[in-house]
Amino acid sequence: MASSQKMPEETLLKVSHIDVFHGSFQALWDVSLTIRPGEIVAIIGANGSGKSTLLDTISGLVHPAKGSIEFEGKDISALEPFHIVDLGISQVPEGRRVFPDLTVLENLIIGSYNRKARSKREQNLQRAYHLFPVLKERKSQLAKTLSGGEQQMLSLGRGLMSDPKLILLDEMSLGLAPILINELYRILREIRDRGITILFVEQNVRRSLTEADRAYIMEVGRVVLSGDVAKLREEERVKKAYFGA
Ligand code: ADP
Ligand code: MG
Repeated sequence: MASSQKMPEETLLKVSHIDVFHGSFQALWDVSLTIRPGEIVAIIGANGSGKSTLLDTISGLVHPAKGSIEFEGKDISALEPFHIVDLGISQVPEGRRVFPDLTVLENLIIGSYNRKARSKREQNLQRAYHLFPVLKERKSQLAKTLSGGEQQMLSLGRGLMSDPKLILLDEMSLGLAPILINELYRILREIRDRGITILFVEQNVRRSLTEADRAYIMEVGRVVLSGDVAKLREEERVKKAYFGA
């Protein structure tokens, strides 16, 4: 896109035709994706299909060999992670990586060290406590004493401390009990209602096609299908592959 041309306002993130390598191994092939402000978008795919690589590339942990990534009309594909966090993208990594020997509060504060978030730390902390009352109750406890579900809440709460416009969630529900997963998705909707756009990665197709507005289905490094979830649920190919119909 010509630099003089403004992005349409309804596009928050635009990933265009990216190829991404891990060493000599190509993990993403010509992947494109668009997210509008206020959407909940899912990336669905089996283990190894490139979902985490896509999130890591948006976050600047890996850089694309080809293609571009624009956030609010600005090309971010060569920027470093700290810069991308400051622009308003926050990634909650797979496997709830909390600092086990720090308290809940200390873990949350770590999420707010970027320049943009520092001045809004107290406000964002209260927001995290409001969304996850259990984190407030346990703010002085070491993170390692929390249950798996509570650690996921802490990980998500920490992601919100950087004051993001867009949050990237990698396999939030992995290994959690269904009742907790329901609760986490309810909170995701509340986060979206507070104005934060959400891109989440899931292996669970049914869940994703219920919780998201739109979804992208990936197979071995490529996007093979995308669209509104209601439409995807009716696709023969999706029914056959994922719903046994
Ligand atoms: P997913 O998150 O969908 O499970 P990943 O993005 O983690 O998939 O991985 C996509 C592919 O890239 C897999 O084949 C994986 O083995 C490979 N891969 C991921 N990270 C690395 C790495 N650091 N070095 C080499 N290959 C990697
Ligand atoms: Mg992954």
